Amino acid sequence: AAKDAGRSQFRFYDIKMHEAVRERWQLSRDLLGALEKGQFELHYQPVIDLATGRIAKAEALIRWRHPERGFVSPAQFIPFAEDNGIIIGIGNWVFDEATRQLMAWRDMGFEDFNVGINVSPVQLRGEGLDHRQWLQRLQDLGLPPGQLVVELTERVLMDVAPIVTEKLLAFRDAGVQVALDDFGTGYSSLSYLKKFDIDYLKIDQSFVRNLAEGSEDMALCEAMIMMAHKLGLQVIAEGVELAHQRDLLKGIGCDFGQGYLFSKPVPAAAFTELLKSGLPAN
Ligand code: C2E
Ligand code: MG
Ligand code: MG
Ligand code: MG
Repeated sequence: AAKDAGRSQFRFYDIKMHEAVRERWQLSRDLLGALEKGQFELHYQPVIDLATGRIAKAEALIRWRHPERGFVSPAQFIPFAEDNGIIIGIGNWVFDEATRQLMAWRDMGFEDFNVGINVSPVQLRGEGLDHRQWLQRLQDLGLPPGQLVVELTERVLMDVAPIVTEKLLAFRDAGVQVALDDFGTGYSSLSYLKKFDIDYLKIDQSFVRNLAEGSEDMALCEAMIMMAHKLGLQVIAEGVELAHQRDLLKGIGCDFGQGYLFSKPVPAAAFTELLKSGLPAN
């Protein structure tokens, strides 16, 4: 009987596995046509200057509007897109869309803020992301390069491939800003901060979640902020959900905050409204 039970359990597991594999395969197949079908959108989340409480920046976050499943999270589909190379097309679309939107905001008179786009290591590693083309487009649009921030994770900077360095330095030289995303979760090597002259550190939300006076996370945040400031970088804290987290971060000199306390990521039109009327009080 025990043997039978074991066997049926195995079968159940097998079916579940099969379903999961099928589901993933289906999703990555749907992803192939998503760009041509215009199923992607960028949402924008404000980044707040903690000293003034005003919107200083935004992060552009991709959204996939799947015809049957509704919105699919980037955490779910970006890994597929990286595996099958679609990330190149998606990444170029994100750049085009974000820069187009930045120009639209400039036309409305909003010129003193910048927008971060997330760039995958896969985009930088191959020939897919043509940095000359990107820089040319900024010039054609008349968009000051400093209004664009490229958000990278630490694993990108670990990549020793010459092409990665070449692209990053070309962006730097042109005046595009660079932020190090999810800081503290990877193999942080401080020498990279210097080598690439990074502009912003984004403290990962895992350090912010349980922030409390006297806690270990508090000590870590303080240390990261102090180090960043000594190196001439500004600091953005991610995942700020509570007023007391904001107050603690402000107290230890954190420059910017981003999180649900201020606003969720919203469509461009809603972000325009935030720019016009300011954030609701919190
Ligand atoms: P990320 O770059 O670290 O983006 C921050 C994530 O935290 C976003 O999730 C955002 O919606 C979420 N978030 C913001 N405030 C809060 C908060 O107060 N609490 C909590 N719990 N979460 C908050 P999202 O939009 O689901 O994106 C997840 C990840 O997917 C991003 O992490 C980024 O790595 C990747 N991603 C998003 N858009 C793109 C893109 O256009 N290209 C690439 N390559 N990756 C992208
Ligand atoms: Mg990011
Ligand atoms: Mg992050
Ligand atoms: Mg700098």
